[in-house]
Amino acid sequence: MGLFSGKKGMILGVANDYSIAWSITEKLAAEGAELGFTHLPGEKMERRVRKAIDPIGPKLLVPCDVQKDEDIAAAFAKAKETFGTLDFVLHSIAFAPIEDLKAPFVRASRDGFKLAMDISVYSLVSVARHAAELMPNGGSIVTMTYYGGEKVVPGYNLMGVCKAALDASVKYLAYDLGPKNIRVNAVSAGPVKTLAASAVGDFDKLSGLYEAIAPMQRNVTREEVGSSGMFLLSDLARGISGEILHVDCGYHAMGSPGHAFEKALEQQAAD
Ligand code: NAD
Repeated sequence: MGLFSGKKGMILGVANDYSIAWSITEKLAAEGAELGFTHLPGEKMERRVRKAIDPIGPKLLVPCDVQKDEDIAAAFAKAKETFGTLDFVLHSIAFAPIEDLKAPFVRASRDGFKLAMDISVYSLVSVARHAAELMPNGGSIVTMTYYGGEKVVPGYNLMGVCKAALDASVKYLAYDLGPKNIRVNAVSAGPVKTLAASAVGDFDKLSGLYEAIAPMQRNVTREEVGSSGMFLLSDLARGISGEILHVDCGYHAMGSPGHAFEKALEQQAAD
């Protein structure tokens, strides 16, 4: 018996086997979950997602552009047909136009801001509303966030502001859905090399920052992010809602460069 034996869930956000959604999927599948997936509309996207998810025998793969309420409604209607009810939903989706993402936040365009907020934040609200209809016995909804929504992380720019709104949405959704025994949480992951991360900036530089500053003096692994996502989706976390769970080797706890500063001081003394 696995932790997820007899449990059914939808996963939104696998693009390929580098996706964080895939790292969480692998853990869920190993614990016996029955899983349905969405892909961005289009044959090429469908093929790419199917290739990633085939090894775990998905029960459902449906197109869904989260900018369209009708796509979200259709995806959850299919989930109802396939599963009847749902126990959990993973939302692992973000997007900003590259020119707005790369620009200092002060230069973000109005259209880029709207689009990034729509896909990266509002989609969680719409997904949670549709998911809740299929969770008569309660359930767990998890999204993916980043520390750049709490504090300035140079280079994260517009997406940092989206994550701040996403974090607040997690808390308001947790409040609204709590009476139905539906929990809403986020995993705040340290940097993981994925398609989306490559748009944000120099991954090695960001990962190096974690090695220098995080209490554990290393960056997180994708496997660790997968386990934590699975944990929040599981009954082990049944008392947790409205939480932003940092899975970042402790980086978020630091208020100074810590070990990196001490090393710099030692170097100065030696010179
Ligand atoms: P990814 O590129 O693998 O996943 C992003 C997903 O968003 C893709 O599956 C893509 O198809 C989907 N998407 C984009 N626009 C969409 C739309 N209109 N409709 C439906 N789906 C759409 O990258 P990832 O890093 O796995 O990102 C997943 C989540 O994790 C994002 O919210 C990201 O901000 C967050 N996150 C990533 C990191 C990291 O370092 N990679 C760290 C913290 C948080």
